[in-house]
Amino acid sequence: MRVVIVGAGQGGLQAAMSLRQEGHEGPITLIGAEPGLPYQRPPLSKAYLKTGEAAKLTLRPEAFFDKAGIDLVSDTRIDSIDRAARQVRAGDRVWAYDHLILATGTRNLRPPIPGLSRALDLRSLADAERLRAALAGAKAPAVIGGGFIGLEFTAVARGLGYPVTLAEAAPRLMARAVSPQMSARFTEKHAELGTDIRLGQPVVEVTGEGLCLGDGTQVPADLVLLAAGVLPNTELAEAAGLTLDNGIAVDAQLRSSDPAISALGDCASFPEARRGRRVRLESVQAATDHARAIAKRLVKGDDSPYAAVPWFWSDQADWKLQIAGLAQPTDAAVTAPSGAILRFDGPNLSAVESVNDAKTHMTARKLLRDLPPDRDTLDAIGYDLTRI
Ligand SMILES: Cc1cc2nc3c(=O)[nH]c(=O)nc-3n(C[C@H](O)[C@H](O)[C@H](O)COP(=O)(O)OP(=O)(O)OC[C@H]3O[C@@H](n4cnc5c(N)ncnc54)[C@H](O)[C@@H]3O)c2cc1C
Repeated sequence: MRVVIVGAGQGGLQAAMSLRQEGHEGPITLIGAEPGLPYQRPPLSKAYLKTGEAAKLTLRPEAFFDKAGIDLVSDTRIDSIDRAARQVRAGDRVWAYDHLILATGTRNLRPPIPGLSRALDLRSLADAERLRAALAGAKAPAVIGGGFIGLEFTAVARGLGYPVTLAEAAPRLMARAVSPQMSARFTEKHAELGTDIRLGQPVVEVTGEGLCLGDGTQVPADLVLLAAGVLPNTELAEAAGLTLDNGIAVDAQLRSSDPAISALGDCASFPEARRGRRVRLESVQAATDHARAIAKRLVKGDDSPYAAVPWFWSDQADWKLQIAGLAQPTDAAVTAPSGAILRFDGPNLSAVESVNDAKTHMTARKLLRDLPPDRDTLDAIGYDLTRI
């Protein structure tokens, strides 16, 4: 079986490695649009901004690919899929597949804000190199978007001594990902660090002088980072007639609407095992666990539904936020004695948010993997996870 993987990021590389680990002996071709070796993105908004050490981001050295028999084709953007002929193309170059894995990730969402072309992105190593160089010469950086990436950048920039302003359109930080209580804690933390946070403030224009906010306020800035979310890269799949639904729609085994094509990671939406709703996750965990599950199915015929517990992290100054599970913004939130926040969907524990508390995070991941106790049971023990 010839396997072709489009997208040589975190999930694409993991798929290639897991195929070999599971015992796949046929050819594997890993094709990526970016130059160089596959690398990890999380440090781009963290350590890399401080150190500029790109070599440390590389996931595997060049020699690994030869040794593992993985044909890495970098700097090559696939522009079409011919499902009938089972081929992918980049210009006049063609690769035939028996199974195709789409791991095309996401790109920055660029809302139609006048002047936004002045704002920098932070998605790829090339973006991070540009941002780092711009930061070195900046006096007043500003950030559009109070999600993980915007806040991580902000924390680094404050740590380096820059005055930073962050504008978030929603009334609270990280609103999609955490409880209102956790948002409030982080708002306070960033305020203590000296960041000027403007909540409920959509940016309506980016000018040569800085940001214009919804309430008419002007924020002077000579560097603007856009960190207002991403869009899944689905154009290839769409042109090939695959079903889309907030990403490339895959089934519980991560197969697209064409069984010869799987999709994984940031670009794929899948049915969540617990609640059955379709979700698309942007995390290293989802990309790598998807990749492992696809490899197991292709090599070992393991058709069990994908059911890994999602988890996330974000490093902001000296705080490591960890989330086990997946809550909806409407899920209830209860603060445990440890300070962790337990989220509930009715009687069911849906997620646990913690800060600098790896023990609680690991306990929560284990609980969520097994059958978690219901809310009444947790209430009876004062929501103290150490008492289970
Ligand atoms: C700055 C930053 C910080 C992050 N921090 C964290 C964190 O702390 N924790 C966490 O869990 N996650 C974090 N993430 C998210 C995490 O990096 C992603 O969820 C993960 O990389 C997803 O893996 P993927 O394989 O789906 O996509 P990616 O790793 O994005 O790889 C997709 C690749 O596909 C390529 N591609 C797209 N279209 C084509 C095409 N047509 N032909 C060939 N190649 C193509 C792209 O160029 C890209 O290289 C962060 C992301 C960023 C940008």
